[in-house]
Amino acid sequence: MRVANRKRVLVTGGAGFLGSHLCERLLKDGCDVLCVDNFYSGTKDNIAHLLDNPRFELMRHDVTFPLYVEVDEIYNLACPASPIHYQWDPVQTTKTSVHGAINMLGLAKRVKAKILQASTSEVYGDPEVHPQREDYWGRVNPIGFRACYDEGKRCAETLFFDYHRQHKLRIKVARLFNTYGPRMHPNDGRVVSNFIVQALRGEPITVYGDGSQTRSFCYVDDLIEALIRLMDSPDDFTGPVNLGNPGEFTIRELAEKVIALTGSRSQLVFHPLPPDDPVRRQPDIGLARKVLGWQPEVSLAEGLEKTIEYFAKGG
Ligand code: NAD
Ligand code: UDP
Ligand code: UDP
Repeated sequence: MRVANRKRVLVTGGAGFLGSHLCERLLKDGCDVLCVDNFYSGTKDNIAHLLDNPRFELMRHDVTFPLYVEVDEIYNLACPASPIHYQWDPVQTTKTSVHGAINMLGLAKRVKAKILQASTSEVYGDPEVHPQREDYWGRVNPIGFRACYDEGKRCAETLFFDYHRQHKLRIKVARLFNTYGPRMHPNDGRVVSNFIVQALRGEPITVYGDGSQTRSFCYVDDLIEALIRLMDSPDDFTGPVNLGNPGEFTIRELAEKVIALTGSRSQLVFHPLPPDDPVRRQPDIGLARKVLGWQPEVSLAEGLEKTIEYFAKGG
């Protein structure tokens, strides 16, 4: 039964790294949460601690198929985010972004829900503009190994704006930059989890290329706060809006920080750079600061400590 005034929120990809933190936060805020996930890259372990909560509901479902539920808000996060996961079944990755967006937009249209899309800094590809602002159109290789993810997300943005213009949907598009924290999958292949797991095991730290490429790392709690603020922002604010931490580090610097914080004796080993790996990435978050009154609060050292603690306890 619906309780008056209690928001019913759908989180697709809710059993993933970011989705599980978002479900937790929404429950804390007093919402009813429906978590939809096909467990492609997420796990039940991520949300096991929420299953006893009567306001939490878990549904195994693939968003490439239609979904008929009644909700007030939709956070569309379903999509593998790590290159090894999204390149494992690239056709499914594109389908998840494109068919998934169509189905969730169709659902939002029918039930008049507000809908937020987790887009990505990857829409900028290997950028010629630095730092990246929302008005930069990007430089994506449409036929490369990363294209299933990048172009899928770009097409999802297109669909969001067309549903907004054509059907007057209330949309929010967030371009997320690299985010890390507890509940990243230990084998998920992303740089922060790889380096921490390797350092804790005393294994070599695998730097791809010469490690001079840069990324900007946002701690998960900061990112979740931004997503909530974006969903609650005025209806005339659609985004796209960059969400991330503007602190920019080379991958080598990251490796050195992880070694120092874990006290590990691991050495760096250098592997070839994967194709189409962007050279630099740093968000301009001026728009998020202005419209959402948001900026990240957790420094890289602080965030890494919390993440290391999580992995040291067994993940
Ligand atoms: P994740 O892989 O941990 O979570 C994605 C979740 O989506 C998983 O639980 C997975 O099982 C689920 N999923 C995948 N395909 C699905 C489908 N067809 N139907 C239903 N569920 C499906 O990744 P994450 O880091 O939590 O990323 C969440 C979202 O944020 C993704 O859309 C990702 O593209 C976006 N994003 C993340 C980052 C980051 O650094 N973490 C950066 C940019 C964008
Ligand atoms: N859809 C859904 N849930 C709903 C309503 C629609 O999953 O509650 C899906 C449905 O599969 C449809 C898609 O969303 O194909 C797009 O819906 P829309 O109404 O925009 O288009 P149409 O039904 O005309 O294809
Ligand atoms: N990377 C690395 N070693 C690893 C995993 C990744 O040097 O074990 C590099 C990767 O080549 C990229 C950066 O770290 O330059 C970030 O990679 P990640 O897969 O985390 O995210 P994305 O490339 O999607 O930003």
